[in-house]
Amino acid sequence: MTRKNSLHWQILLALLLGVGAGLIWPRGATLPGGLEPYSVFDFLGTLFLRALKMVIVPLLAGSIISGVAGVGAQRGLGRLFSKTFGWYVTTSLMAILVGLLLVNIIHPGVIDGVPVGERMGLGEAPPELAAKLEGRGVGDIVGIVQRMVPDNPVAAAAEGQMLPLIFFCVIFGLAITTLSEERRKNQLGFWESLFATMMKITGWVIATAPVGIFGLMAKTTATSGFEAFAPLALYGVTVLGALLIHSTIFLPLLVRIVGNLPPHRHARVMAPALLTAFSTRSSSATLPLTMDRIENGAGVSNRVTSFVLPLGATINMDGTALYECVAAMFIAQAYGVELGFMSQVLVVMTALLASIGAAGIPAAGLVMISVILQAVGLPLEGLALILAIDPILDMCRTAVNVWSDSCGAVVIARTEGESDVLT
Ligand code: ASP
Repeated sequence: MTRKNSLHWQILLALLLGVGAGLIWPRGATLPGGLEPYSVFDFLGTLFLRALKMVIVPLLAGSIISGVAGVGAQRGLGRLFSKTFGWYVTTSLMAILVGLLLVNIIHPGVIDGVPVGERMGLGEAPPELAAKLEGRGVGDIVGIVQRMVPDNPVAAAAEGQMLPLIFFCVIFGLAITTLSEERRKNQLGFWESLFATMMKITGWVIATAPVGIFGLMAKTTATSGFEAFAPLALYGVTVLGALLIHSTIFLPLLVRIVGNLPPHRHARVMAPALLTAFSTRSSSATLPLTMDRIENGAGVSNRVTSFVLPLGATINMDGTALYECVAAMFIAQAYGVELGFMSQVLVVMTALLASIGAAGIPAAGLVMISVILQAVGLPLEGLALILAIDPILDMCRTAVNVWSDSCGAVVIARTEGESDVLT
């Protein structure tokens, strides 16, 4: 068994042990001596998340700048951009349509002819959620485009704002390609070394993943348990079923047909990153692992990796897009509202935009649903319905988000003529 293979088994084991530990010691339980297991879970999980976040900014900067500066002088940068963007939009739309189909067939918002909202007495949304949602709308999306240009790149880096940082790094890399030979070499050398150093540190963080993931899973299970989910089972099944169809049928088909690559081998290579996405519920936090697996596992060049993945982690979210659509449709059904064709088209379009606008952090997709609800005129209180089950769905949709980015990376690498991908 190779080291990487054994890592994904270790992560899987840690994940299961974490669920077990969370069920045995729910939040509030104490051990003899007064020790709270929950605080141990929290400590381990938080430490791991912090370590992952620690590497993101320098890793991103090193990767994008060296990637762009290294290839910018050659032709084909624009082509790479269009392919990447094409992949994002096509796969996200496919995901949304799978969700739309399933939610129309299963109709989870109405059980035995009674809308779920009535059964559950549609409680008030908690005040902190209401505060988050205040003033959100389609105009938000315009704001996101505007904020892509940072007014202060150092502040963007310090606050971990990914899109403005990516934008600045791309411009910086492009500028390097225009320098005189000696200056260009110096700059490129520096950013390439920074990138190599950050990949080394990332490797060390990844080695601690089993412990961190144990903590994160135990913490989630200890907090939510299993009870709150019963009336939402059908809705959960709809989201999970659609995610499953998209990730195990459509994306692998694209990898096979467009990339002419074996999807099962790709899945094996990506397993540690997918399991990390599942337990961290954050595609951004998983990014260092995704990049490591794509470059060192699948053998994709830095040029493609540094374009497709950092951008993908923030704007390509198939799982989130699908979820946005199903959740909005479910809320409509739960209120006893049947959305017509045009409203459903509106749901599809806003779900796509909302997934682009959602940050790669836990529960970002939940907040973005408000954009769709507003667009089709549904009350925001409907969000209260889906809160209880959201952490589980967030885990699965985040894994699908990362899976789609990684499929995009190998397919695009192949269409760029890279022949040793997944060999
Ligand atoms: N947690 C997701 C992610 O990081 C975003 C979402 O909430 O849908 O990819």
